[in-house]
Amino acid sequence: MSTSTAVEDRRAFVEAVRAFVERECGTREQRAALTSNGSEAHNQEINRKLAGLGWSGVALETAWGGAGAGVTEACVLLEELAHGQVPVFGLGISMIVARTVQEFGTDAQREDVVGGFCRGEVFSVAMSEPDSGSDVASLSCRAERVEGGYRINGQKTWISCAHYARTILLVCRTGSTSDKHEGITMLLVPTDTPGLMIRPIDTLGGREVNDLYFTDAFVPDDALVGLEGAAWRQLMAGLNFERVLCAATFLGNARAAFDDAVDYVRTREQFGRPIGSFQAIKHRIADLATELECCALLVHDVARKIDEEPDGPYSREASMAKLKVTETAKRISIEGMQMMGGAGYSTEYDMEQHLRRNIISTVFAGTSEMQREIIAKAYRL
Ligand SMILES: Cc1cc2nc3c(=O)[nH]c(=O)nc-3n(C[C@H](O)[C@H](O)[C@H](O)COP(=O)(O)OP(=O)(O)OC[C@H]3O[C@@H](n4cnc5c(N)ncnc54)[C@H](O)[C@@H]3O)c2cc1C
Repeated sequence: MSTSTAVEDRRAFVEAVRAFVERECGTREQRAALTSNGSEAHNQEINRKLAGLGWSGVALETAWGGAGAGVTEACVLLEELAHGQVPVFGLGISMIVARTVQEFGTDAQREDVVGGFCRGEVFSVAMSEPDSGSDVASLSCRAERVEGGYRINGQKTWISCAHYARTILLVCRTGSTSDKHEGITMLLVPTDTPGLMIRPIDTLGGREVNDLYFTDAFVPDDALVGLEGAAWRQLMAGLNFERVLCAATFLGNARAAFDDAVDYVRTREQFGRPIGSFQAIKHRIADLATELECCALLVHDVARKIDEEPDGPYSREASMAKLKVTETAKRISIEGMQMMGGAGYSTEYDMEQHLRRNIISTVFAGTSEMQREIIAKAYRL
């Protein structure tokens, strides 16, 4: 395909996604109805519509129901959906699980998980535990080998969308070695497995994350994804994809907060003129616009690099994208709220929702501090 055809195809895809967003989620009333007044981060009906259009599996292989496009198209999709505040929190996470199973699973698992995702099902990934957050390799939730499968005991926490998920990609310990990165294994655990309890955690963002409790939960041998004990390497292989998808999502969120701030300062008048005409405000808008432009260039560049060289050494760049975009999204929401005065704090406007959504983005999928650690490693620090 020539470069100009690829650019035209991408532009047409962006236009189609924007039209969908406008139609399904264009008004505050539609968004309130889809999110139970802002308390639900995911709406399964909208998620299924996206799957029906063939968009969810945009970056997955056609053999398993995907569209066979690249990371760039997946980023474009997530960015536009986030910009339109479409409540599909489970989409990006499910995409990451599907990519992992496509890469390391058996054909039966690919049909089940990648195929299921492309049909609109939700999947979660469970790594974090109460005592293993940033130091996730210290996890202790354990799966013992028993006749015909594994018996799981332990706890996971902060698991996004587990209350919507059909199946959870569980990262747990199966072996004991002196190296904490060894002996970690991926298992597919259906959410209706006896012995698994899912309990929602109330947060500033509403219902989005859950505690998982495993008490003698049994899964059969064919729940194993990839090699037993090799989950750390399997996780590392998908990290660049995960970080750039996360960055693309928060780029969309940041654009939404920025657009709302600009709309407000253009029309709100004080001292007989629009507040956006005061230098103190317009220079801040100019700074935020510049930051946003840097973010967009970074995300699109990293996505392109990963598409060109899927196993390329881009952990520095992917971490930079995640760090820069999420910090910017948070900053724009805080600045936007300040520029809107009391209105920014009111539920009558979207800014308070932008802030609630963006404030946590610098914590999940690796905190900003951990991204800086990864970036610094590239300089042997
Ligand atoms: C909304 C949300 C959704 C999530 N979704 C999922 C999910 O779907 N699946 C999943 O497995 N997990 C999920 N998580 C968990 C998330 O990945 C962890 O919260 C994150 O890794 C941080 O772990 P922690 O909260 O235990 O903080 P901690 O690791 O205790 O860190 C606390 C603070 O200390 C800092 N810190 C820690 N170590 C260092 C260091 N070496 N150097 C400098 N600073 C350091 C951190 O950066 C942070 O600021 C989610 C979390 C949230 C809030």
